[in-house]
Amino acid sequence: MDLYEYQAKGLFAKNGVPVQRGIVASTPAEASAAYRELGAELAVVKAQVKTGGRGKAGGVKLARSAGEAETMAQNILGMDIKGHPVHRVLIAEGVDIEREFYFSILLDRANRQNLAMCSVEGGMEIERLAKEKPEALAKVPIPRTGMDETLATEITQQAGFDPETGSKVVPVILKLWQTYVDEDATLVEVNPLVQTPAGDIIALDAKVTLDDNARYRHPEHSELVDQKDADQRELKAQEAGLNYVRLDGQVGIVGNGAGLVMSTLDVVAYAGEKYGTRPANFLDIGGGASAEVMAKGLEVILTDPQVKSCFVNVFGGITACDEVAKGILGALEILGDNASKPLVVRLDGNKVSEGRDILGTANHPLITMVQTMDEAADKAAELAAK
Ligand code: GDP
Ligand code: MN
Repeated sequence: MDLYEYQAKGLFAKNGVPVQRGIVASTPAEASAAYRELGAELAVVKAQVKTGGRGKAGGVKLARSAGEAETMAQNILGMDIKGHPVHRVLIAEGVDIEREFYFSILLDRANRQNLAMCSVEGGMEIERLAKEKPEALAKVPIPRTGMDETLATEITQQAGFDPETGSKVVPVILKLWQTYVDEDATLVEVNPLVQTPAGDIIALDAKVTLDDNARYRHPEHSELVDQKDADQRELKAQEAGLNYVRLDGQVGIVGNGAGLVMSTLDVVAYAGEKYGTRPANFLDIGGGASAEVMAKGLEVILTDPQVKSCFVNVFGGITACDEVAKGILGALEILGDNASKPLVVRLDGNKVSEGRDILGTANHPLITMVQTMDEAADKAAELAAK
């Protein structure tokens, strides 16, 4: 789970990483009130979206009065930054910047280790820095024993810090490492980490990704789940114990078994090229496709306004096709008027003829039975374009 800057800074503050004071606002009036509450001459109004490059997009502005904060918020709220609508702004105490640095810790999966990256050249996008000035970016693997002062010092040296500034950055690096470990993050990035004219080191920006697999260890992180933007559908599916990922297409997909569902996504994406349609989701209902589980899965998909058709692709195994067929009919019965989109069903495997007979006899107006996976994908993609 990616966090908003204000949430990431909340975790930073909790772990002793120096950050500016800040208040979140979702209206221009709240923004001007926040400016007054901060009581600082200089404030910065920052779009809260889960993407970088906000500054470049006009989503970060300095304000020197409550009126300015209000105007800036007015301009920034409702902006669209790389497809992310801005619902909130962070009003933070403005910081005078002497120098901008870069620091991050991330899970380097390919090399099975945690990696620290650091540079005295901050502010610039890291991708650009890595490409244009790779020698300015220190990349230091963190051993399994973790980060200590010696390693943090070495990182600052490799990054090109002078010893004096380096010694001020080291404790911040240690706190960022503590945040990374204690919060179970897979990414902690600060760009820029700044030095003020007074010499203080402050995390001016914050990007944190938390490891969803460690969610159970952090009940306190549940408040970070974005109720407004988070996909309600994914939450609902999660509560129902379904393995569901929402995508941005029109063809809903249900299958049994992760491998089958993955290949179903592929064939639907391929078939959809002709019709301009794409898979709307990944949904694996697993082995025991009872009517109830099927109903829950179909409910999640069919109530999604972006979905125009649904492809049910089942290979009967332990749960045979006749059970699955009954499951589909049972699901449509449970859903009643909530099921109004065409369903393309492909059954194969254990007791396939019994399953097809059941659906054939039911002759449900929403169901089209198709024999092969490719043909079914084509049909579902075509129906989604209508
Ligand atoms: P990003 O563009 O999404 O990475 O957002 P940042 O939080 O990194 O802000 C972008 C840029 O705005 C920074 O690199 C700074 O140059 C500038 N900025 C942000 N906050 C302040 C501040 O408090 N004071 C000053 N002077 N500049 C700021
Ligand atoms: Mn930044």
